[in-house]
Amino acid sequence: MSASSSFVVALDVGGTSMKGGLVDDTGAVLLSERRPTPREQGPEAVVAAIRDFIGHLAASGDGHPAGVGLAVPGLVSADTALYAANLGWKNVPAIDFTPLDVPVMLGHDVRTGGLAESVLGAGRGVPDFLFLPIGTGIAGAMIVHGEPYGGASGWGGEIGHIPVFPDGEQCACGQFGCLETYASAASVGRRYSLRSGQEGVRAEQVVASDDPMAIEVWDDAVEALSLALATYTLLLDPSMIVLGGGLAEAGPALLDPVRTRLVKRLTFRDAPPLHPAALGVDAGMLGAALLGWRAAGRPDLGPGWTVDVRSEPLVS
Ligand SMILES: [Zn+2]
Repeated sequence: MSASSSFVVALDVGGTSMKGGLVDDTGAVLLSERRPTPREQGPEAVVAAIRDFIGHLAASGDGHPAGVGLAVPGLVSADTALYAANLGWKNVPAIDFTPLDVPVMLGHDVRTGGLAESVLGAGRGVPDFLFLPIGTGIAGAMIVHGEPYGGASGWGGEIGHIPVFPDGEQCACGQFGCLETYASAASVGRRYSLRSGQEGVRAEQVVASDDPMAIEVWDDAVEALSLALATYTLLLDPSMIVLGGGLAEAGPALLDPVRTRLVKRLTFRDAPPLHPAALGVDAGMLGAALLGWRAAGRPDLGPGWTVDVRSEPLVS
């Protein structure tokens, strides 16, 4: 392969910021940058900002990229961003996102992060597992036979909206008692703030607090998670569960009680082990790089890579 086609442009598009990079065919991250997502300027401005960012990243490389991979929110196919409520997109073709005349592939944001954890991270060598990032919201990537599974229409993995408490609080989605309403980082902070009257409390503070109201809110989160994970385990029989996102930074304070309750809930089978995610905030961008290489006709790349994960702190 010529030196001029030995890297891809990878972009992870989030609701508030975009993380982009250049990744070569050995998995080395040659460049990594972050830009804000201009969501308030409308759907077309976001597409234009992505084009501009990709053009800038490509021009920073030595030669021409072999492909482009993008992780985007919403309902996604490999060649179209079908629908994204938070960005206002409807049926945006993949080629609209790039100014370059090279192959491009899109992936769902959480499933693309799950692909990276599967090929390069905590799930390396594990064909069936759940990747569950817990941040502002909760969505899962179901890894089935080594690949993220999106279901019949691409809505698969919305574990954050599994009803865990049937008569529970109303979720932003309109349903009642959703996992996300109790266990996302945003919900843990919000539910404690409501009870205590203290504004702007973060989930980490709730986890660390010995205030009885904080303990109760955290207990609800742990209970909701163990219920959802028991359901997932009974349905899909995963080899492991990988917890990521901002709340997973709580480490043993999250993993230990969830593990204990999950084990208790399951009677006739073993609980799968729980592991922290390995790639942190880089998962989406690294997964996008794998998609970029797939677009370029190199689906074989990835399994042999040793990735150097930056220690940028996770944010919720
Ligand atoms: Zn919901």
